[in-house]
Amino acid sequence: MFPAAFDYLPAHSVDEALAALLKHGADARILAGGQSLIPAMRFRLARPTVLVDINPIAGLAYLREENGALLMGAGARDFAVEVAPFIKERYHLIFDAAAVVADPIVRQSGTIVGSLCHNDPAGDWGVVALAARAEVVVRGNAGTRVVPIDDFLIDSFTTAVGEGEMALEARFPTPNERTSGSYQKIERKVGDFATAAAGVQLTLSADGTIAAAGVAIGAAGPTAKRVVEAEKILLGARPSIAVLRAAAAEAKEISDPIADTRGDIEFKREMAGVLVYRGLLATLKRLQQGELH
Ligand SMILES: Cc1cc2nc3c(=O)[nH]c(=O)nc-3n(C[C@H](O)[C@H](O)[C@H](O)COP(=O)(O)OP(=O)(O)OC[C@H]3O[C@@H](n4cnc5c(N)ncnc54)[C@H](O)[C@@H]3O)c2cc1C
Repeated sequence: MFPAAFDYLPAHSVDEALAALLKHGADARILAGGQSLIPAMRFRLARPTVLVDINPIAGLAYLREENGALLMGAGARDFAVEVAPFIKERYHLIFDAAAVVADPIVRQSGTIVGSLCHNDPAGDWGVVALAARAEVVVRGNAGTRVVPIDDFLIDSFTTAVGEGEMALEARFPTPNERTSGSYQKIERKVGDFATAAAGVQLTLSADGTIAAAGVAIGAAGPTAKRVVEAEKILLGARPSIAVLRAAAAEAKEISDPIADTRGDIEFKREMAGVLVYRGLLATLKRLQQGELH
């Protein structure tokens, strides 16, 4: 189906985009990669009358490290993350996820910031951002805000970006050499949204105990969610099979998926626990922890 009629406004600067958003209010939507918005318009699930295209804005597709964080501009594509050597080397959780979002064609166009703004319950980047403690920089005519990801992802397809605002950048803290992570996803076939997904990031202290823990699950409720009780179990603990199992059980406990063609509720809840367990094991392996007991 074709989308309903709309006006197309290419923006050549952030100010120009914000002015267009302010002028057209709730009728306007930002167009980034278009990989979620255009299908939604075709199915008439979204009917914006004005599309503000941010792709002509120069310098918005950056990926760079600055002040202890990886900065991803609103124009940065999944594909760019997937092939950046420094991300493969240091940002293991992000690197894992970049290779399993949708398929290579979608990843050429889809943006990380656009995905966070879309906030699909089964989307991958929200899970990663929660486990990694990311922030999103939001700009409107009233100024710029830096929003912690826990406050940014509000509900299915709803975020902290208000009318007349745009997300400029996602910020992921740079992991130190004792930090690693893993992204685990079950999909029906390559290119599909998650049936269940988990993101994990751990920092070990010099004595081998867990100094910081981020655990999140996706396709497990209206929006990606942090497994706070699992993080509490991990924090300060010495990694063991029992500790990992206890943390994974918390993921299953809070998983609240819907039944759909990807699986029933019981299966998805079970998988939330299994994927957190696998993610923790994979992370500890990357941190060169010996066999766990
Ligand atoms: C076949 C297919 C399979 C897919 N599989 C997956 C998958 O497995 N996992 C997954 O996570 N995603 C998947 N997706 C979604 C894909 O990753 C999207 O690209 C992504 O969710 C949205 O990014 P985008 O840049 O295309 O955003 P767009 O589609 O351009 O925009 C999405 C929404 O976010 C808003 N928006 C975008 N950028 C901004 C901004 N800077 N500030 C404020 N609002 C903004 C738009 O107005 C719109 O409402 C799939 C898509 C397709 C077509």
